[in-house]
Amino acid sequence: MTTATRGEPAPIPTPRPQAVLTPLNTGSEALWAYDPAPERIRPEISPSYGLFIGGTFTPSASGATMPTLNPATDETICQVARGEQADVDRAVQAARDALPAWSALPGKERGKYLFRIARRIQERARELAVLETIDGGKPIRESRDIDIPLAAAHFFYHAGWCDKLRYAFAGREPTPVGVCGQIIPWNFPLLMAAWKLAPALACGNTAVLKPAETTPLTALRLAEICKEVGLPDGVVNIITGAGETGAALVNHPGVDKIAFTGSTEVGKRIAKAVAGTKKKLTLELGGKSPNIIFEDASIDQAIEGIVQGIYFNQGHVCCAGSRLFVQESVLDDVVTRLQRRLASLRVGDPLDKNTDVGAINSKAQLETIERYLQAGRDEGATLHEVNGSTLPSAGSWCRPCFFTGVQPSQTVAREEIFGPVLAVMSFRTPDEAISRANNTPYGLAAGIWTDKGSKIFEIASRLKAGVVWLNTYNKFDPASPFGGFKQSGFGREGGMHGLRAYVRL
Ligand code: NAP
Ligand code: MG
Repeated sequence: MTTATRGEPAPIPTPRPQAVLTPLNTGSEALWAYDPAPERIRPEISPSYGLFIGGTFTPSASGATMPTLNPATDETICQVARGEQADVDRAVQAARDALPAWSALPGKERGKYLFRIARRIQERARELAVLETIDGGKPIRESRDIDIPLAAAHFFYHAGWCDKLRYAFAGREPTPVGVCGQIIPWNFPLLMAAWKLAPALACGNTAVLKPAETTPLTALRLAEICKEVGLPDGVVNIITGAGETGAALVNHPGVDKIAFTGSTEVGKRIAKAVAGTKKKLTLELGGKSPNIIFEDASIDQAIEGIVQGIYFNQGHVCCAGSRLFVQESVLDDVVTRLQRRLASLRVGDPLDKNTDVGAINSKAQLETIERYLQAGRDEGATLHEVNGSTLPSAGSWCRPCFFTGVQPSQTVAREEIFGPVLAVMSFRTPDEAISRANNTPYGLAAGIWTDKGSKIFEIASRLKAGVVWLNTYNKFDPASPFGGFKQSGFGREGGMHGLRAYVRL
């Protein structure tokens, strides 16, 4: 900023260079694109990574490896070890060996390690964000502003609990469960690892974590961080691999607790496998969460929340607000504004800081989404594909879209799509909204949009969902518990409630 000398006229400020605006869509509503703003740092990536067992990176016993791809380009990023039964045996043994010393450590000392991990995640945040985006396809803006800061926040939050566990369970003496087998999905790779490891470690347990096949890289960086902060060997073990690796962990007799986040289908299989054993179990599964807009809501605010709720992370969000119920009197208005907002979303290079919607995580997931789009059309719903972004020639992409004219019995209203696809339906009365919102086998999350406080409390108390957001959506905090009802699973993660899964009382 320039300042004027007393008595002289203030200099005329030099105009700032303007971004070059190029028309993106032609037609009645011209939109404008920003110049590209690519994230330029490229973290170092080795050609191959081993399993992290007992504090050392080692190849799998059979030498088997698998590639991890960049879903935005279809290029292979590197190879990672494919863990098998023998590797799971080694990892569980390492966790068992580390357990006595780790669980005997005073809480204050354990807390120091968690604080260090949190700080190191912050220090390496940019590198982690880029890796998350390259490996999983999510926009850099999300990995930078949501995934990585929240992962650090989870370690910070749980570091604080380490020496206060007795106060979390008044009058009772919590002891660790033992060796925890933890299996996570690909939609929030580092964040899910933090959700699992931070409470387990805080409560004095040791862990074997299995990341998803398509997104192992940030979990392996977290393994490096564990080494950097001097975490005792074997407290955290990371086994990359496929579904069978996860199954081997679930069935391992040396594991005391299974924590799983993933699909309801695999969750059910795990529940069966664990039934009749002494293993503790928590399941965080799928959802088909409703967003309800009343006629008295601030419609623009609601549209922004709906867009956050379903198009955020390409709809790869277990609590995505994938069913939208709109009060009949404002239905047309909401649909018009939704169309306009969708047309303005930028789909494309996930490493571009202006990108709103990145790549679909895998070819398999894209095929699933496309099957659902076809099912919606076949069953008579109307598909609105209003986004005109130019898509890259390689990679897996799906433009954000929505269905209207949806009947509750149709597939797109019932099943989890896990993509940027919204089903819009209408209702007349609050009672109808509640009964339709609750008419699902899931119960993970819900959103309510209204100007009336009394309505909020009444409706929220009658919705069968683990989380109910009011005039907002998809907001997370390590201090608030997250988890579902019905087929969305059981047990809570985060907050004081989340500690319960990792202690015996
Ligand atoms: P998924 O197929 O169930 O996979 C989840 C994890 O389980 C992956 O690491 C997977 O390994 C592993 N796995 C697969 N088969 C297994 C088996 N038989 N035994 C043990 N582990 C096994 O789910 P996804 O498609 O990756 O993730 C999407 C689903 O996760 C959605 O349904 C979503 O709603 C749910 N999700 C829920 C939450 C929540 O908090 N409730 C959060 C995020 C996601 P591979 O990757 O190697 O197959
Ligand atoms: Mg990948």
